[in-house]
Amino acid sequence: MSGEYEGLVALVTGGASGIGAAVAAELASRGAQVAALDLDPAGVPDGVLGLKADVTNDESVRQAVDQVIATWGRLDVVVNNAGIGAQGTVSDNSDEQWHQVYDVNVVGAVRVSRAALPHLRKSPAAAIVNVASVAATAGLPQRALYSATKGALQSLTMAMAADHVREGIRVNCVNPGTAETPWVQRLLDSAPDPQAERAALDARQPHGRLVTAQEVALAVAYLGGPNSGSTVGAALAVDGGMAGLRLRPV
Ligand code: NAD
Repeated sequence: MSGEYEGLVALVTGGASGIGAAVAAELASRGAQVAALDLDPAGVPDGVLGLKADVTNDESVRQAVDQVIATWGRLDVVVNNAGIGAQGTVSDNSDEQWHQVYDVNVVGAVRVSRAALPHLRKSPAAAIVNVASVAATAGLPQRALYSATKGALQSLTMAMAADHVREGIRVNCVNPGTAETPWVQRLLDSAPDPQAERAALDARQPHGRLVTAQEVALAVAYLGGPNSGSTVGAALAVDGGMAGLRLRPV
């Protein structure tokens, strides 16, 4: 499998932490030249080009994509992974919070895709992989805003797949379950008893443990690469069965 990305250039948003960093490292290990676009690129993996940019700022996104082209002259694979969370019911989040989270999780992917598409059209191996979430379809409590953004990202994936498949650009998404990343660690650290909270979180997963960032990275690498050439508009669950099994408390 290694080498399947040889000669290709990939851009991973949010590539300095958690799932994005695991994706950037995985694509690089398979031979890609990889740029990681992030608000704070300090944590990008070795061998990955860090680009400081904000997916909520169109100009900043365009400059980052221009830098990829200036560096390598091409762009083949885009991974829209940058995202932020929100907790609560619809009564808990203000209009401002709705706009803010939607702007990162959905419009951020739109901005990056828009800037990348002219370059992807020239690639013989073009793919976009969006990192949505189990929250897109699982009906998770206390996650109204976050779930709505991830549902929108999954819908966007299917619509973009339809728009661009005849141009040779495949668009798919990965829907991870709760994954071991700095984001989830921050949530655990803020709990009164982080160890007990971690045990409870593990127990809530159908397969009894958190998803690893590497498991998500392997799914992204599959969807972004040549081995998934006939997979278009799909949502690949990496969630231990949380969404697909429709498990409910007994
Ligand atoms: P993380 O917080 O560890 O990393 C997210 C990265 O995105 C950070 O480096 C951050 O700086 C960057 N980022 C945030 N806003 C940005 C912006 N406006 N512009 C550029 N970069 C920005 O998070 P993670 O857990 O690795 O999550 C990555 C993605 O996976 C997110 O889209 C998240 O919704 C999704 N996801 C995570 C989980 C989970 O349990 N960790 C589960 C399902 C889906």
